[in-house]
Amino acid sequence: MVAPRNGHCAYLRARPNCGTILRSEWHYLAPICRRRYRARLKNRQGWDERRRQTWRQATYEPNFQLAVPAPDSLPTADLPPDISKPAPPFVPDPDAPALGETAAWQWLHHLAQQYNQAKPSRLSQLNPAAPLTDAHLSAYLAYGNLSLRQILHFIRQQPRNRYWATLSARLLQRNDLIQQFEMDWRMERENLNFAFNGIRIKQNETYLAAWKSGTTGFPLIDAAMRCVRQTGYLPFRLRAATMAFLTQHLWLDWRKGGAAHLAQMLLDFEAGVHYPNCQQQALCTGSIAEVRVADPVKQARTLDPDAAFIRHWLPELRSLPPQLCHAPWLMTNLEQQLYGFQMGKDYPLPIIHYEQTQIFATTELNRVCRSLTAQRETARINARYASIDS
Ligand SMILES: Cc1cc2nc3c(=O)[nH]c(=O)nc-3n(C[C@H](O)[C@H](O)[C@H](O)COP(=O)(O)OP(=O)(O)OC[C@H]3O[C@@H](n4cnc5c(N)ncnc54)[C@H](O)[C@@H]3O)c2cc1C
Repeated sequence: MVAPRNGHCAYLRARPNCGTILRSEWHYLAPICRRRYRARLKNRQGWDERRRQTWRQATYEPNFQLAVPAPDSLPTADLPPDISKPAPPFVPDPDAPALGETAAWQWLHHLAQQYNQAKPSRLSQLNPAAPLTDAHLSAYLAYGNLSLRQILHFIRQQPRNRYWATLSARLLQRNDLIQQFEMDWRMERENLNFAFNGIRIKQNETYLAAWKSGTTGFPLIDAAMRCVRQTGYLPFRLRAATMAFLTQHLWLDWRKGGAAHLAQMLLDFEAGVHYPNCQQQALCTGSIAEVRVADPVKQARTLDPDAAFIRHWLPELRSLPPQLCHAPWLMTNLEQQLYGFQMGKDYPLPIIHYEQTQIFATTELNRVCRSLTAQRETARINARYASIDS
């Protein structure tokens, strides 16, 4: 990466093939980005058409073939035996992704093989809760190994099916969010809908620490928090579940440690996607007709029915049969004895009564959503961010 000589703007321009800002650079570049964002669009009139035109332009096509043909053989006499061995074949592993442009293209081609089959296999071993459609492209995008336009051109060359259609739609959603963030960088620090400011005032450091370390007593949430710490990746539904648990059940403000912690853990951290998504899960956007607070036990049963993900990341629950792993506190004393497991000792008791917190959060969020301020704010947000010409 080029060292900044003529200030941050020159640095941003000099970065190769990278439409986004890396986590390590964010604090350094944030002030200049904010100044640049402020000068951007006031609303999104005409933006969608401009986006389409830009994306139709040709992309840079990498050619990994050598320009000069390689000789049939090389003298190996002086080389140590391990160097003269052929390079190992590419083994795709989304749980420990190799970054870099070559790895990114190899991954995209591997994805094509999967998606073009009628039934793709699960791409990630460590994330059995991830849907089959997950593409694991976010880290390549965040590091600038692939651009959005390159991926969309690649998709256009593939036979049409629902996997590619889903991927295109999600990529467009990413682009939309980043563009909205460019218009309003305050989303990093402030609720998009100001009516939600000041509802989660109390900070509970014990809750926050339990959430971060994966010891809340709710297996799906704990497994997800331990998984992201080790792999830097979570599928969308688990990111949503953890953030919803933090903000809806623990009733903690996403700005006071939660969003920042996930940002530090995620390999694909991208400010323009991360903060708006955190706000959506905290239900702070105010654009929802009916507030529905997530149920962590129901989510565990739906997302991980055979508890494979939970048992992978929480070894302390492996002695239990899968159907008891979603809510282990419901076990009777007899069952605990039978499986040689003690709730509260082998695994923490739940830190909250989730049925009560669910009622509290639903009432409180519905109250704010119905307030005049929230409705005015929702109208303002719609006018500013709706894609007018799409
Ligand atoms: C609390 C929270 C924080 C998040 N933080 C980030 C982040 O820092 N960086 C990041 O790239 N994504 C973030 N996401 C969005 C989404 O979860 C990830 O993009 C996705 O899980 C990455 O995995 P994938 O490449 O397998 O995605 P797939 O599900 O296969 O989707 C393909 C691509 O579409 C885009 N995409 C998918 N879902 C979303 C979405 N909800 N919003 C915007 N774009 C999306 C991503 O670029 C992704 O790579 C966050 C979501 C939540 C709920």
